[in-house]
Amino acid sequence: MSDVKDIINVLSKPSKEDVAFITKAYTFAKNAHKDHFRKSGELYFKHLFATAKGLAEIGMGPTTIAAGFLHDTIEDVHVTPEDIRKKFGDEVLFLVEGVTKLGSLKYRGTKRHTEALRKLFVATSQDVRVVIIKLLDRRHNMQTLEYVSPQKRKRIALETLEIYAPIADRLGIGRLKRELEDLAFPYVYPQEYEETRKLLEEATRHALKHLPKLLKQLQKALVKDQLVRFRTEHRVKGLYSLYKKLERKGSDISKIHDILAVRIIVTSEDDCYRALGSVHRLWKPIPGKIKDYIAFPKPNGYRSLHTTVFAGQSGTVEIQIRTEDMHRRAQYGIASHFSYKAVLSGGRRESAFEWIRQLLPSLRPQQQRLSAKGAPKHKRSESALADVPKWIKEMAEAQEELEESEHFLKAAKADFFSHRVFVFTPHGDVIDLPIDASPIDFAYNVHSDIGNHISGAKVNGKLVSLDTKLTNGDIVEIVTKESAMPSPKWLEMAKTTLAKRHIRSVLQQER
Ligand code: MN
Repeated sequence: MSDVKDIINVLSKPSKEDVAFITKAYTFAKNAHKDHFRKSGELYFKHLFATAKGLAEIGMGPTTIAAGFLHDTIEDVHVTPEDIRKKFGDEVLFLVEGVTKLGSLKYRGTKRHTEALRKLFVATSQDVRVVIIKLLDRRHNMQTLEYVSPQKRKRIALETLEIYAPIADRLGIGRLKRELEDLAFPYVYPQEYEETRKLLEEATRHALKHLPKLLKQLQKALVKDQLVRFRTEHRVKGLYSLYKKLERKGSDISKIHDILAVRIIVTSEDDCYRALGSVHRLWKPIPGKIKDYIAFPKPNGYRSLHTTVFAGQSGTVEIQIRTEDMHRRAQYGIASHFSYKAVLSGGRRESAFEWIRQLLPSLRPQQQRLSAKGAPKHKRSESALADVPKWIKEMAEAQEELEESEHFLKAAKADFFSHRVFVFTPHGDVIDLPIDASPIDFAYNVHSDIGNHISGAKVNGKLVSLDTKLTNGDIVEIVTKESAMPSPKWLEMAKTTLAKRHIRSVLQQER
């Protein structure tokens, strides 16, 4: 149990140095947390091991795995940053500090700010690897959520559903998105969870009963068409994803055709099309449900052929045909059900692009980030890139091509992110404001009554003047007084039209 070999074995061809590095982090974390226990009574180290192992499983390199082991050392057992730097280098320290920083971002269930918090989350992390560590950290916390107090449970589960799962989704880590959703679902919507679970159980029982026969028919048809090198597998739809789809389809489960999906995994692109031919000769496809994502990959790089067929007693079944490589990406990388839906449904296209774009700075101009700090180390930036999974690099490259396109230019102009600052209320809600916004803008954004009675403002606990420019991550607190009211000077300090409108209206009433 919790043996470092279980992690080493997951890696493909690790070097001696890799093994030594990971083992060093393993041993260090085990020692540092030796008197530290989880709420469940288990050794805290178990949590670190689960996080690190998850990172290995989705294909992260030794640096990120080591950071996974060390991610709670600074905050929980007071290891000093200097100590980590000395033993594991700048890069591991950078990742550990990134994860520690992200820990202070909390979602308290204000729907209005959900998207802003997701963006802030990615912006704060600076490096996509930090986000990925945090996702695996969260997965293990969700797996052990029952030991946490009921109140906290709900908050954490909701945060997982609203912030973490969508981020996993937009990163294309379909498997993780699904796990996070299904772990959080029962805590956030217990009743809906129960109902959906029953529905799915029944539908699955029916589909699985006929599955062996269906697979046999399918395999026979493929072999008859001289397709010999293939394998099949199936997946049952995730509970939360079914729940969301039921909501869209008026709760009619008979309208959902992908409760069971059968996958045919072949060895070449050519074979994908040949297999599709075989399938359509065997079973009649539902018109309009044939999708060629090989010729037209989704913007996030997902490739596969999809078709839904009438398969006799099994009813309608979705068949997904892909190569091994496409399959790997669909799980760990680019594709997932929700994200391509989001991308395809017109209006949300831009936001999907924006997200990938936001990941870019952490990949492309790594040198920039380093040189900004003073001492660029080329070796470090190269190894940083080597540690990034191939699919993320490819996503970044695909994005660079997209930048040429007109559509992308439009999206870039409307780039929300680079022209906004994200600040917090003392309760941890995120308020997003235009760049150069002042505490006055903040106050009116929270509520006009607060704006109309500002007597002072605190930023990060210190009193500041009302024309202070807010910056990312500031915690802003407004001091109000019943007798306080807007002055004409405020009009110059305010950046948002919302604030200006309110100020003018009060000033006019005064006259
Ligand atoms: Mn943790």
